[in-house]
Order: sequence, then C-alpha cells, then structure tokens
Amino acid sequence: MQYNEKVKTINWLAHNVIQLEVPKPEGFKFSVGDAVEIKVAGQDPGPFTITNLPNGDKLEFVIRIYPEHHGKTEAISKLKVGEEIGFTEPFNTFQPQKRAIFLTGGTGITPFIAIMRQMQKEGTLADCHLFFSNKTRKDLFLEEELSDMLGDHFHNIIAEERDDPDYYGNIDEAWLKNHIDDLSRPVLVCGPPAFNKAMAKALKSIGVKEGLIDLGS
Ligand SMILES: Cc1cc2nc3c(=O)[nH]c(=O)nc-3n(C[C@H](O)[C@H](O)[C@H](O)COP(=O)(O)OP(=O)(O)OC[C@H]3O[C@@H](n4cnc5c(N)ncnc54)[C@H](O)[C@@H]3O)c2cc1C
Repeated sequence: MQYNEKVKTINWLAHNVIQLEVPKPEGFKFSVGDAVEIKVAGQDPGPFTITNLPNGDKLEFVIRIYPEHHGKTEAISKLKVGEEIGFTEPFNTFQPQKRAIFLTGGTGITPFIAIMRQMQKEGTLADCHLFFSNKTRKDLFLEEELSDMLGDHFHNIIAEERDDPDYYGNIDEAWLKNHIDDLSRPVLVCGPPAFNKAMAKALKSIGVKEGLIDLGS
C-alpha cells in the first residue's frame, strides 16, 4: 500500500542532516528498526528509516542531504511544510538485541536511533555501547540525546579532522580491540557498504564470531 502525507515539520540537525516529520497514517503499524521507501515528486523512491517510537501519531526521519548528487535527498531538503511525500509499508532492517554494540557510520545510525530509544524505555540500553563514526565534527548530529541516553557508553569517532579530540581516522582492528570489552556481545553494524565490509572483516579478525555480527536485512 502507498501512503501520502503532508510534511509536518523539517528541522536541520547538522549542516547536511534534516529531521522530517509527517503524521502517522491511520492503521500504519511499524516496529523500531523499520524503514520505508519515500517518494518525492520527480524522483525515484528511496529507502529511509523511521527514527521515532511506534506509539504516537507521527513518523520521524533523519536524512543526510547530498545536494551535489542532485537526487532524492536534495529534493527532500527542498520540501516545505504542507507539501506531500509518498511512502510504502514498512520493512525491517534491524531488531533490538540485549548487550548490543551499535557500530555505525553517519546516517547508518538511523535504525539504531529508534532501537536505542525503545531499549532505554525498557531499561535494557545501559548495557549497550554505541560506536558512532563521522567524517568531521560538523557532520555529527543528535550528540546531546546520544550522550544523555548512553553516557560513557557513547563513543564518538571523528574520521577526518586531525585536530579534533575524538579524531582517530577510520575505525580499525586496534580500535575495536581496545573498545569491545566482551567478544560475546552481538555487534550491529550499519553504515555505507564499504564501512560494513571493513567492520565485518575487522570484527572477525579480532575474534567476534560471525553469528554475532548483524549487518541488517
Ligand atoms: C534500508 C535503508 C535505510 C536507509 N535509511 C536512511 C536514513 O534513515 N537516512 C539517510 O540519510 N539515509 C538512509 N539510507 C540511505 C539513503 O537511502 C541514500 O543515501 C539516499 O537515497 C541517497 O540519496 P541521494 O540524494 O544521493 O540521491 P540518489 O537519487 O540516490 O542519487 C542521485 C545521483 O547521485 C549519484 N550518487 C549516489 N551516490 C553517490 C556518491 N557517493 N558519489 C557520487 N554520486 C553519487 C547517483 O548515481 C545518482 O545519479 C538508507 C538506505 C537503506 C538501504
């Protein structure tokens, strides 16, 4: 089924990241970690993850804008409150897992936003860790909420800005070895394809069993 709803709010969370809300359609049911295909006028549909919790009357999305691609995210960034978007039924990408390590790059964090919000509500987030990599400090978003939710279990990694205190470069085996306290934890990995591939390889080589590495569906 295809839904159409009018944009309720648009806020910029970072220089190239927006948070967009539409009303939740009557009868639309979803779980944390679900995504939909969003269709905006003149563009092909593209997958985006719902970042709010299923109860309530809205759907929230966090979307990185690539103006230089002149594609769907540029079109989304130009939407105005009251303009319509289309979207599909939801499909699942990740599910909550106790004792998880969320290993993520950029907007790859989106499925984990709703999952972590739900786990916090249920009291199971305290034993999880978030490793969140961004190219530069100004690409980072939701830092305050993530810090509040996870405290010192929130590990921020800046990959390209050498003078940043959280600079490390690309996450590698040495970094993972230093930061994963228990190799029996499930590791949920979500980022660009090259990030996912590199992380799966690095995790295996430090001894995380393949069955514990979740690359989503
Ligand atoms: C299940 C799933 C969930 C997702 N959830 C989210 C989410 O919640 N938030 C989010 O921000 N993203 C999410 N994404 C990623 C998102 O769908 C894409 O990043 C987005 O559609 C790309 O949009 P675009 O503006 O590049 O436009 P597109 O319309 O995809 O591309 C426009 C043009 O740019 C070109 N192009 C694409 N990539 C590059 C590149 N790297 N360099 C040069 N040219 C390029 C294309 O070939 C095309 O010609 C998700 C992806 C998946 C698979």
